Amino acid sequence: MGSLLVDNIGELVTNDGRGGDPLGVRRDAALLIEDGQVAWVGPARYPPAADRRIDAGGAAVLPGFVDSHAHLVFAGDRAAEFAARMAGEPYTGGGIRTTVGATRAASDDDLRAAVRRLRAEMLRQGTTTVEIKSGYGLTVADEARSLRIAAEFTEDTTFLGAHVVPAEYADRPDDYVGLVCGPMLAAAAPYARWVDVFCERGAFDVDHARAILACGQAAGLGVRVHANQLGPGPGVQLGVELGAASVDHCTHLSDADVDALAGSTTTEWLSGPPTNTVATLLPGAEFSTRSPYPDARRLLDAGVTVALATDCNPGSSYTSSMPFCVALAVREMRMTPAEAVWAATAGGAAALRRTDVGRLTPGSRADLVILDAPTYLHLAYRPGVPLIRQVLHNGVPR
Ligand SMILES: [Zn+2]
Repeated sequence: MGSLLVDNIGELVTNDGRGGDPLGVRRDAALLIEDGQVAWVGPARYPPAADRRIDAGGAAVLPGFVDSHAHLVFAGDRAAEFAARMAGEPYTGGGIRTTVGATRAASDDDLRAAVRRLRAEMLRQGTTTVEIKSGYGLTVADEARSLRIAAEFTEDTTFLGAHVVPAEYADRPDDYVGLVCGPMLAAAAPYARWVDVFCERGAFDVDHARAILACGQAAGLGVRVHANQLGPGPGVQLGVELGAASVDHCTHLSDADVDALAGSTTTEWLSGPPTNTVATLLPGAEFSTRSPYPDARRLLDAGVTVALATDCNPGSSYTSSMPFCVALAVREMRMTPAEAVWAATAGGAAALRRTDVGRLTPGSRADLVILDAPTYLHLAYRPGVPLIRQVLHNGVPR
């Protein structure tokens, strides 16, 4: 496939942390790609020879977004529920069952086509890595096929059989937890890298969540938790206790929750295998449910590693746009543009415990975005504007 030089880059975000700048911004830079990986980064004045060349025209280039939390395997939509909510009805999470019904009724081909459409939509908006959860099947067969289809699109597949207790188990949640930990996990695990639980009032309590996550861990899966979205609760501390890669939502946190996350933090993930628990914030959910946003400043000031993701799903956050989440994080959660861009790239990689994406340094995957803008600041400064000029995924222009 030969080498490819991206040169005339006005502003290159590398996330290499050089000189104390987490974004590792370089001006007037060039970047060489070989075999789908970044082979060299340096000044545009001294570009190495290459077979082909892309002229960035002085624009900003950054790592492709890493969307570490998305629910893409589903059928139908819930636009009417959204409209009702905007007219004043509260969000309870109960609408998940509506999507479960539609998903069970869909064919494999229909589900696959739906994932393909959303994955393409994400790529156009600069997302080059995405985590995909199951969780709208909630039977042994439907969870397994959801993950089998998800695995056609990403390495980061997550078993979320514990999304909600399905209607047929409504009065016997213990039996459902038994199913999740037994035959459902056995059928899902071959296609899953992660296990996740919706630990929330109305979904799974802390004992059920602990049991399911422990079973998943025993089956070799890494842990992630939907925690503290709708109210205070035990999910965040459970996640930290179990060594979760990420606890997601983090909207309602106590001081003890923040302390637990901060205590889990190490900055060593840039150079070695990470061991901390990331707080993944999903501002699209607060936007779409008209709810108070998480306090990102409190987490950042405490030293917690923060990621941003879309939570793309048909009920509470039907956006696939990481630039939109960056803009929300800056405007509504008081993150600086630099913090938000880091969280949407390197932060997402940390939440997936990956060191090959979310950065543009020699050896990393050549996943990058060329903006129609001179600086990454425009992602928040010009919200809603299609600023993604070109996306390279594994070094290949898309
Ligand atoms: Zn979610």
